[in-house]
Amino acid sequence: MLGTSHAFDLYVAKGAGSYVCGEETALLESLEGKRGIVRAKPPMPALTGLYGKPTVINNVITLATVPVIFAKGAAFYRDFGMGRSHGTLPFQIAGNVKQGGLAELAFGVTLRELVYEYGGGTASGRPARAVQVGGPLGTYLPESQWDIPLDYEAYAKVGAVVGHGGLVIHDDTSNLAELAQYAMHFCAIESCGKCTPCRIGSTRGEEVIAKIREGDTSVRQITLLRELCDTMVAGSLCAMGGMTPFPVISALDHFPKDFGLPRTPAQKAA
Ligand code: SF4
Repeated sequence: MLGTSHAFDLYVAKGAGSYVCGEETALLESLEGKRGIVRAKPPMPALTGLYGKPTVINNVITLATVPVIFAKGAAFYRDFGMGRSHGTLPFQIAGNVKQGGLAELAFGVTLRELVYEYGGGTASGRPARAVQVGGPLGTYLPESQWDIPLDYEAYAKVGAVVGHGGLVIHDDTSNLAELAQYAMHFCAIESCGKCTPCRIGSTRGEEVIAKIREGDTSVRQITLLRELCDTMVAGSLCAMGGMTPFPVISALDHFPKDFGLPRTPAQKAA
């Protein structure tokens, strides 16, 4: 390897398709031939990983950046991006969009550029209304946040996540309460079931949002939903249950009308 005496064999193992098997310890369980259930940490996989051995786990995006760094040097790669988010990310543009696909760009690009310059706007031709960033557990961003540069710190400041750079675009016919309910449903069917906030919380969350959508917009229901989300964020063992509230709360905060709630003063002014 690279002129050294080191050599290695490469095996590709196909996953069983479960969403939570993207979590590093569930991935290890799956590779060991077991059901994909999240392990409690510590011990971290770097100490006790695959078959109990120290294991380094990186995602595909990280590994894909290695060849260019070897070929052109770290300084070349560091020159891309902004702030502490160096390099590039292959953004996955999907949903209601004219030109879906991958666009590998430096961190710092904005959602507006991705939606309109790279995506060509919505496939329906209607105005875009919300973009979910970071995957199925990512935050919904309203148009007022589309000029924030896509870098980890800037997104964290507004409670959003860049994640793996997946974008799902929705036009003005979308109903964010329906999408919030779907997020809870997704968590309920994909949960590994190990911890209570995720396993039970997602099912109860789906029920509470259904009640709100049926017209019970009482303070009690909204408080219940927010408290349930707080519990999931604070008490879940992994990001599956810990991040499911992100699409739910962002939908509730930025698109209250879809839940049958009045708009906030800031939204009225916008
Ligand atoms: S948060 Fe959900 S997916 Fe993660 S360990 Fe708990 S039950 Fe499993």
